[in-house]
Amino acid sequence: SDANGSLKTYDEHVPEIKFTKLFINGEFVDSVKGRTFETIDPRNGEVTARVAEGDKEDVDLAVKAARQAFDHGPWPRMPGYQRGRIMSKFADLIEENIDELAALDTIDAGKTFSMGKAVDIPHAATCLRYYAGAADKIHGEVLKMSRELHGYTLLEPVGVVGHIIPWNFPTSMFFMKVAPALAAGCTMIVKPAEQTPLSALYYAHLAKKAGVPDGVINVVTGFGPTAGAAITSHMDIDMVSFTGSTEVGRIVMQAAAISNLKQVSLELGGKSPIMIFDDADLDTATDLALIGIAYNKGEICVAGSRVYVQEGIYEEFEKKLVAKAKAWPVGDPFDPKVQQGPQVDKKQFEKILSYIEHGKREGAMLLTGGERLGTKGYYIQPTIFTNVKEDNVIMKDEIFGPVMSLMKFKTVEDAIKRANDTRYGLAAGIVTKNIDVANTVSRSIRAGVIWINCYFAFDNDCPYGGYKTSGFGRDLGLDALHKYLHVKSIVTPLYNS
Ligand code: ADP
Repeated sequence: SDANGSLKTYDEHVPEIKFTKLFINGEFVDSVKGRTFETIDPRNGEVTARVAEGDKEDVDLAVKAARQAFDHGPWPRMPGYQRGRIMSKFADLIEENIDELAALDTIDAGKTFSMGKAVDIPHAATCLRYYAGAADKIHGEVLKMSRELHGYTLLEPVGVVGHIIPWNFPTSMFFMKVAPALAAGCTMIVKPAEQTPLSALYYAHLAKKAGVPDGVINVVTGFGPTAGAAITSHMDIDMVSFTGSTEVGRIVMQAAAISNLKQVSLELGGKSPIMIFDDADLDTATDLALIGIAYNKGEICVAGSRVYVQEGIYEEFEKKLVAKAKAWPVGDPFDPKVQQGPQVDKKQFEKILSYIEHGKREGAMLLTGGERLGTKGYYIQPTIFTNVKEDNVIMKDEIFGPVMSLMKFKTVEDAIKRANDTRYGLAAGIVTKNIDVANTVSRSIRAGVIWINCYFAFDNDCPYGGYKTSGFGRDLGLDALHKYLHVKSIVTPLYNS
């Protein structure tokens, strides 16, 4: 911090903003109403760019283009390997522009530039290549019918897909949705979050350059209740794939149901537990717990926000973890030494601080953090509470910030019971060398992904998604490819000679 208490900024990294218009039918266009909205740099609260504000009329145009591209265009009809080649070219173009793309997500979402370069942007390319390799291996099966019938299945693309994505991983979310849908032969409308529209528009440009035909990928930037709602209630969209809050997930599903009953997949909130057993290595386990809550400033649906530590190592664990949290580098996300940038916007920043105040008021014990950092931008100290009552909202609600509840447990059964005491079921972590404990706990937790002796171990091959109010449907892996495919059965009689 300087004398004013504000953090040093690294403005030499801020890229030129090249794309700010809607991308419809292969062209960058203004919105029909000509409106724009501001996108804000969370490092300082200043306006980065004005971006076209899409609404219902713009979604209509995008759907028309996607419908035409699906019903009459080459994309669903071309051999899978050709779709794969174009997707691989798209991946190459992303790698050629890695610095610029990572910087866009940094100024839009406050993500660290170093992580963007090392993880998010490379993941966009590998995700495209993973599904490019699957694009020519999509086939049904021959059925062993119980009667004199010949039956087989065909896998067909579901059609026009609306992808509504959140702001916490603007790049990864884009490709987790777009890549499998492209491989399946779908056409699509993507609505990035209003906080982070910039990289999605750049990806639209790269898709066109790679040879993705016009109308296959359309990007409509704008707000949830307008552009987003126009997608979920559209009569000519076949499926909506949504990632965001549980609250909005309910609205999405309702709108889908009362319009044309479009298919829905929902990847929603979480309140994921990490269980650390007595035999754990303290250095590894404290690193894992800290990263579990502070990675991407806690703005990650699988954040390990409830940490349960077995009583034998609890005291020592707490001491080590708190020391590490105090030393965790928060600051300008362009600074290569920094691990945690600002929260995405003022609204999230205030929401997190109000949860922290609630925790303090309701008698939870604050071990470290609990305040904003600096006087400018949306920075929050990594915050750890202990002695949190089970019914305290900071124990129940997804905070979506660097705020952990650290608790003590006695037995394996105790850990399982408390870990499952949540309305969510996205992820869980287990730290132990005891294979019996690891296996038993893995099977007993109602969550879509279990990480044993690791956390955030994402892989393109590994499907992930929710149980309970964390939603349904899977992203990544071949499960995500199949989400964008219909199964058609074809049956014909066999005649006895
Ligand atoms: P968060 O609470 O993390 O900001 P949201 O669930 O509000 O997440 O937002 C995720 C995505 O859903 C964003 O692209 C947002 O614009 C969109 N969205 C918000 N409200 C609606 C809505 N009523 N209908 C459709 N999409 C919406």
